[in-house]
Amino acid sequence: MVDDIKKTSHTGGLGWSISRYDKFLNCKRQYFYDYYAKFDNDVSFEKIQFLKSLTSKALEVGNIVHDVIRDMLKRYQISTKPLNKSKFFKYSFDVTKKYCNSKTFFEHYYYKEVVSAYDVYEKIEMILKKFLDSARFEWIEKNAIYQSSKWIIEPKNFGETWINGCKFFCKVDFLFPIGDKICIIDWKTGKPDEEKHSRQLTGYSLWANCHFNKEAYDIIPMIVYLHPQYREKNVKIENDAITEFTNTVLNETENMCRYLVDIEKNIPKVKLEFPLTNNVFFCKYCNYKEICAKN
Ligand code: SF4
Repeated sequence: MVDDIKKTSHTGGLGWSISRYDKFLNCKRQYFYDYYAKFDNDVSFEKIQFLKSLTSKALEVGNIVHDVIRDMLKRYQISTKPLNKSKFFKYSFDVTKKYCNSKTFFEHYYYKEVVSAYDVYEKIEMILKKFLDSARFEWIEKNAIYQSSKWIIEPKNFGETWINGCKFFCKVDFLFPIGDKICIIDWKTGKPDEEKHSRQLTGYSLWANCHFNKEAYDIIPMIVYLHPQYREKNVKIENDAITEFTNTVLNETENMCRYLVDIEKNIPKVKLEFPLTNNVFFCKYCNYKEICAKN
């Protein structure tokens, strides 16, 4: 199967990512809707896509915080002037209004809850304040901006990476040089998950290893928890961890490929082969509950 997977990856088929494999583990049916909607014979593609696009208050908080920090960093690449904090918060609120007005919230669609930009912004403002009070922000504004032309902020074309002929995706938020090392930062607004995030850091190291030809000891991957307290998690990645991670990606890609009838073309088995989870918690917050046989 490994050879088939490698062939698939090179032809644009299934690509591993932490979030994809999480979905796969949580509920195979949800995974089917997320990645193989066009193969559903019962529900229209448009309907599944609409449900997939539902956002939630928690998701939107993370999304907006990421986007305004991204925009702030990009602004430093144009001007080294200190941040005008009141303008920054006004901008953040405007982005919140724009996003909230253009999206359908899960809480509204399923529970008729009225979600206003003010509700969502309350937490965003709190998180951004913590970030602006952090030593990291001070360091960025006082020291790091002088090398801002070397920053890479949410790189678009770097997400896809290849290891041993297998494709995986790794979305990096912010990368910058420190001497001859490179530091990679990933912002988190959700609950800390030490095991999962350590794995993610290893993935970043592998990504940097592939794209920048850096050894593990020259890469400093860091998760920055912005909520409930500002905290940085920095793990020393050894070359062994990168080898282990590579094997994990290969094994987990193989597990997902067991649900395909055509690995090369990434064509799934029929929907009924993707079982429903027994975990009521996942169902409670699932975007697809309207169309799922579970309900
Ligand atoms: S409602 Fe539950 S079983 Fe159905 S797709 Fe969602 S998580 Fe899976």
